[in-house]
Amino acid sequence: MAFKTDIEIAREAKKRPIQEIGEKLGISSADLLPYGHDKAKVSQTFIDSVQGNPNGKLILVTAINPTPAGEGKTTTTVGLGDGLNRIGKKAAVCIREASLGPNFGMKGGAAGGGYAQIVPMEEMNLHFTGDFHAITSAHNLLSAMIDNHIYWGNALEIDTRRVVWRRALDMNDRALRTITASLGGVANGFPREAGFDITVASEVMAILCLATNLKDLEKRLGDMIVAYTRERKPIYARDIKADGAMTVLLKDAMQPNLVQTLENNPAFVHGGPFANIAHGCNSVIATTTALKLADYVVTEAGFGADLGAEKFMNIKCRKAGLAPSCVVVVATVRAMKMNGGVAKADLGAENVDAVKSGCANLGRHIENVKSFGVPVVVAINHFVTDTDAEVQAVKEYVKDQGSEAILSRHWELGSEGSAELATRVAEIADGDSANFAPIYPDEMPLFQKIETIAKRIYRADEVLADTKIRNQLKEWEEQGYGHLPVCMAKTQYSFTTDPERRGAPTGFSVPVREVRLSAGAGFVVVICGEIMTMPGLPRVPSAENIRLNADGDVEGLF
Ligand code: ADP
Ligand code: MG
Repeated sequence: MAFKTDIEIAREAKKRPIQEIGEKLGISSADLLPYGHDKAKVSQTFIDSVQGNPNGKLILVTAINPTPAGEGKTTTTVGLGDGLNRIGKKAAVCIREASLGPNFGMKGGAAGGGYAQIVPMEEMNLHFTGDFHAITSAHNLLSAMIDNHIYWGNALEIDTRRVVWRRALDMNDRALRTITASLGGVANGFPREAGFDITVASEVMAILCLATNLKDLEKRLGDMIVAYTRERKPIYARDIKADGAMTVLLKDAMQPNLVQTLENNPAFVHGGPFANIAHGCNSVIATTTALKLADYVVTEAGFGADLGAEKFMNIKCRKAGLAPSCVVVVATVRAMKMNGGVAKADLGAENVDAVKSGCANLGRHIENVKSFGVPVVVAINHFVTDTDAEVQAVKEYVKDQGSEAILSRHWELGSEGSAELATRVAEIADGDSANFAPIYPDEMPLFQKIETIAKRIYRADEVLADTKIRNQLKEWEEQGYGHLPVCMAKTQYSFTTDPERRGAPTGFSVPVREVRLSAGAGFVVVICGEIMTMPGLPRVPSAENIRLNADGDVEGLF
């Protein structure tokens, strides 16, 4: 049986005007700022006006460690949202916006898949409502103002070797990772080493996603450390006087975007920080707004639960005062097989034993999520190639862990395929059995926070860090940053720092290579292993095959 591609399905969508979608959440058309017919921003005035509403239930979708077999967190988030609406609940989904750069590298969109997608999917994956361009501009305004400050006499005595603020671009371009800026003579400033990060890795992105309102946004922008003096005194964006103008550039981008699912249910798509050097979830303002308007809000955290859910709980929920009522851990039979040692090429053949041995990875994620005090249900995201015996093996394993797994066929069938999952998730959320708490307190010293995550979530024996790193953490504690959460940056493919070690490994240590302070976002980034903040394109980038066809439609994007 032949299946339609994501883009074919998306093009057949019977979209409703965005005003109708807004109405479902009680947003009048005067409070929607339309970007065309099918996208709108929700006005800040309206957001302010609903602050007295009670909150709906927050449901997090996370997953096992990703494998090249694909897990489908976004697809399941959208499918579950539609499933909840189908069973008569008032539900909205909240997901991240897509980064432009990766679209031209490898195929793969960020709007879900099959019959569980958000539309308009092409726009969402391309320029959308321009938020990322605004973030890029705000970021680079600060970069320009730093060099300009140095050019006009450097009153702040910035050490040009210690400018830590880089430039940003929403493109995969390895040529810009490290560059020399200001070449070409006296009129162009003082030559210095510089470089670019992809926009989603910008601290401005993380800030936009954690800020609760424009005032908070402006304060956090001002708090960013951009450089140091020769005496190692930090220079803040506030010292450069860039925070006000940056806020102006971001004022529209701060308002969440409303779009719809294939089944015309409301979806907020807003913000998109990296899941390694940042926290990897959509904006706080989108989530908190959705909670005021819907009874159930389904949201996604990037990567596997060891990174995504951990940061969602320890960073986003802690900072925004959110508490999830239920967590859905997405697993696939294919990924279980890969975790059980099967090569990608052999995934087509039934292999119940490999499924069983791969389940150890799922088991550890279930335990971890429960340790935050939140009830868990496993969603088996059904692939049409899965066999009944394989699905049964996952269900039995999960049952033995004292949890439950539900097969969900939203990719193939839309909400009809996810209604069972939705019914159970709603029941759990309504049961109010969650007793959420982050797994470490604010007061814990920074190094101990890292150890807590490494030992309790990854199950490492120890954390290895040089004296230099430990001293740096102590220095930040003395400067008043000790209360911040830590943001772990490691491979998403394994509980360890080695991407090849699948399953549920034990007997390993977690080496910390570097620590960085994101003082505006409000976390300390802990880098374990190689982390790329400016991706490159593959040998044959998908851009080579993207074009407009005779009808003016985009071809080759997905
Ligand atoms: P994640 O959010 O975990 O990165 P996505 O939901 O974006 O994953 O899905 C990644 C890709 O896998 C998408 O192209 C989607 O169409 C595909 N996919 C997801 N679920 C299924 C499924 N059940 N069957 C077939 N393809 C799927
Ligand atoms: Mg996703």
